[in-house]
Amino acid sequence: TVHARGLRKSFGERVVLDSIDLDVASGEIVCIIGPSGSGKSTLLRCVDGLEEIDRGVLRVNGQDLGFRETPRAYQALKRKEVAAQRTRIGMVFQSFNLFPNMTAQENVMSGPVLVKGAPKAESRRRADELLTSVGLQGHGDHYPWQLSGGQQQRVAIARSLAMDPSVMLFDEPTSALDPERVGEVLAVMKDLAHRGMTMLIATHEMGFAREVADTVIFMDGGLVVEKGSPADVLGNPQEPRTCKFLETVL
Ligand code: ATP
Ligand code: MG
Repeated sequence: TVHARGLRKSFGERVVLDSIDLDVASGEIVCIIGPSGSGKSTLLRCVDGLEEIDRGVLRVNGQDLGFRETPRAYQALKRKEVAAQRTRIGMVFQSFNLFPNMTAQENVMSGPVLVKGAPKAESRRRADELLTSVGLQGHGDHYPWQLSGGQQQRVAIARSLAMDPSVMLFDEPTSALDPERVGEVLAVMKDLAHRGMTMLIATHEMGFAREVADTVIFMDGGLVVEKGSPADVLGNPQEPRTCKFLETVL
């Protein structure tokens, strides 16, 4: 679960996230929409512990994630906690970020083996199961360059799942794909949603958000402008900025 209150994040003088309140309950699917530069990726990076926040509360699975003002010793300790914390958070990026020198199977088993020290044979079996669950049975010995973008992204999802994340974050996971490959990745994400995974997803796929999301958040200029059910936010937006954005994408 994710819980943020009054979260602020700036780069130098520039405030890119301001007074963000965000909740993702267990099993909930939250989609973040908004124009380029509105802060979607930065918010996901904060939740993933990749960025330190300036102020506010940010808890993932009930544990606080880093603060800039804290004393140094405390921060060092914090970083270790954050590292441990991050193993429970799955993140899938727009660019698939697979290890190019590893096969699909090796990519998927890399986390459990290298980070958790899990036994190889068992991790390999689990990797094959996960590859099957994303529709890639028989592709375990393929290298990333032998796979299409959609297949690579599904390997990336399987690799995240191998760490048994309690929450999965997706940052525009289909934006870099050929149009005919988008559906197969969305299908895997839908399947995960139906299996009860907790998910926070930045996406431009309005059809997906409408169908799968429990909650849709519209961000603009580093603020949460509107949030609610997909029917409300996408079908009956109240804020002029939401209306304007939806006109440009629908
Ligand atoms: P897009 O839809 O294009 O992916 P986004 O909503 O994900 O956009 P962010 O990438 O979070 O937006 O960026 C929000 C703002 O923060 C932008 O103005 C961006 O230029 C700025 N920004 C992001 N990362 C950094 C950084 N490391 N240093 C300085 N500014 C940054
Ligand atoms: Mg982004």
